[in-house]
Amino acid sequence: MKQTDETWTTLRVLTWTSGYLAEKGVENARREAEWLLCEVTGLDRVGLYLNFDKPLSDGELAAYRGLVTRRAKREPLQYILGSQEFDGLCFEVSPGVLIPRHDTETLLEQALQQAPVARAVLDIGTGSGCIAIALATRLPDASVTAVDLSPEALTVARRNAERHGVTVEFLHGSFWEPVIGRSFDLIVSNPPYITTADMACLQPEVRDYEPSLALDGGPDGLNAYRAIVDQAAAYLQPGGWLWFEVGAGQALEVSALLAQAGFHGIITATDPGGIERVVGGCHGA
Ligand code: GLN
Repeated sequence: MKQTDETWTTLRVLTWTSGYLAEKGVENARREAEWLLCEVTGLDRVGLYLNFDKPLSDGELAAYRGLVTRRAKREPLQYILGSQEFDGLCFEVSPGVLIPRHDTETLLEQALQQAPVARAVLDIGTGSGCIAIALATRLPDASVTAVDLSPEALTVARRNAERHGVTVEFLHGSFWEPVIGRSFDLIVSNPPYITTADMACLQPEVRDYEPSLALDGGPDGLNAYRAIVDQAAAYLQPGGWLWFEVGAGQALEVSALLAQAGFHGIITATDPGGIERVVGGCHGA
């Protein structure tokens, strides 16, 4: 077939789409245009580059148009592709769960540093299950429990545990309610921490698509921390650790909550972007 200037070759499609997505406010528009085209063609990025001059089929063009339209409306790339990498593992994500962030790997590292031989681990508000599953992978001798208020999230989290071949006990309910009477030596949580006022200012990908249940931390962003810290002592073995991810500017307040509740050895850690992202404390002993 003779190619004309009007032929939608791989290169022409990518050039047009990058411009279109950039116009719609998508950062890294060229990269994202490539990833979406990889999804449609089954090629990797090198494959795309080797096929720059190849025209796309009508079927590929139609499928690509569908994905690009979604991304142009600022639906997160991860929901469109259905996955996100965290701690070197690939997690299924859907609009019912917060997309795992690399910042949260800081929480994982700190928790593992302080509790390298934890036996009974709890993750409060597990979402996709990424923290609980990464911990179960790294601590093969531990029994890991994860709770979430969202049944939809638990369905995704269960599938993720299965995908990675680890056993995690997933329980439905609010904060401590599903684990009443039990105790743990490592408790982690990445709770909702955005203030209700700031919710409106989030980028469209987060504000319009990610679950507000996983984001909205109430008027001062600290509701979930209070609910967890207030009762944490009853659920921690002596010498056990409680670790939180916190939002920018919250480390001091969350440290104070832990200190007021009698925690000691309080530690904060910064994420790769230099933001104090993690706060932890030790209970008793
Ligand atoms: N890190 C997320 C964001 O800023 C918020 C996650 C949370 O509230 N726990 O988009």
